[in-house]
Amino acid sequence: MISPYFTESPAGAETSETDTKRKINAGGIRRLRSRVLKSEDAAVSVKAETHERSITDAQTSAEPLSNSINTTTSVKANDDEAPLRSPKKQRRAHVKVEYEEEGVELKRERWEPCNWRTQLSFIREMRSKRDAPVDQMGAEKCFDVEAPPEVRRYQVLISLMLSSQTKDPVTAGAMQRLRERDLTTDSILNMDDDTLGKLIYPVGFWRTKVKYIKKATDLIQREFGGDIPNTVEGLMRLPGVGPKMAHLAMDIAWNNVSGIGVDTHVHRISNRLGWTKKETKMPEATRKALEEWLPRDLWSEINWLLVGFGQQVCLPVGPLCSMCMNQYTCPSAHRSYPKKIKTGSPKSPKIITSPTPRVKEELSDVHAYGSSSQRRTKTTQQDETIEKEASLSPQRDTEERGE
Ligand code: SF4
Repeated sequence: MISPYFTESPAGAETSETDTKRKINAGGIRRLRSRVLKSEDAAVSVKAETHERSITDAQTSAEPLSNSINTTTSVKANDDEAPLRSPKKQRRAHVKVEYEEEGVELKRERWEPCNWRTQLSFIREMRSKRDAPVDQMGAEKCFDVEAPPEVRRYQVLISLMLSSQTKDPVTAGAMQRLRERDLTTDSILNMDDDTLGKLIYPVGFWRTKVKYIKKATDLIQREFGGDIPNTVEGLMRLPGVGPKMAHLAMDIAWNNVSGIGVDTHVHRISNRLGWTKKETKMPEATRKALEEWLPRDLWSEINWLLVGFGQQVCLPVGPLCSMCMNQYTCPSAHRSYPKKIKTGSPKSPKIITSPTPRVKEELSDVHAYGSSSQRRTKTTQQDETIEKEASLSPQRDTEERGE
């Protein structure tokens, strides 16, 4: 190839000496040119590297401490191996990941069951008399209000341990007998197992509970200075104390809401109302499912509300759907045959044969806002089912009463 920097001489006009000199000059100029080009490339590379580093430094100073340490370390490590290519590749990959993560966040919507606010307000209304067994004999009613704080907290824990698999009146009776014998850590540790068993009988699994109470009290005395632990983890170290008891103890004894106390009532009703995204098999799964969407300021109230509601209306077997204000929105309404109710007694609850004005008003809201973001989890088909259920209810009520 002929270089553009040279012009050809006329053929045969030059001597061999001149040819030799020309060849020498051409070789020198070629070498010089290649050196100039190399130095230009190097200058461009140095400029690019300087520019890259200034961008990297600016990004590093804007990132949190932990990120900046990682970035600096990785860039330094790569500098040693491949100073020009590695930082560029690393930075591009990082930006891409951030973008994808942001995209995922934007797509993710917070799930919540449709109609839950209406259903909760109806449950509050049905519980307004506060006349369920839990209202009179729950764990927050069984301790000695005049006892020192650490003794009150210990009594709350003992009543929660006794209440497992036991009806509230039975728990309250056992607590009364224990308190007559001065229910403190010292008195329990000094009491023999037989006496303790007789005092708590007939609570469910009373023999096992005697062992658990003794072991837990011993641990409280030895490791926690005679007061119950003030963390969920600490409470769950005590024998016989699970997540439900730990969260309830944190709430009642320490006035610290750490989680939802999910017992059999809360578990059952949450599933019946469709308050869990998927059906849950165990109370612990229900707790996690509820805590994902239920506002934290309702965590304490929900246990008290649903336990009483489960004791009076949404019974384990034969829920009284005909009396429930949620029968028009509950997906489980009238699924199981309710128990026979004696009508006409002044004490018997009023059967709702058709939607009350308030229920009608709420239902019209439900239908009007059925497609809003808060209610989008239920399909139109489900709304139609609710309407159908509502129209069928009076007929069902008549059949249930045998009229
Ligand atoms: S309608 Fe029936 S199943 Fe549903 S919450 Fe009321 S009582 Fe329970």
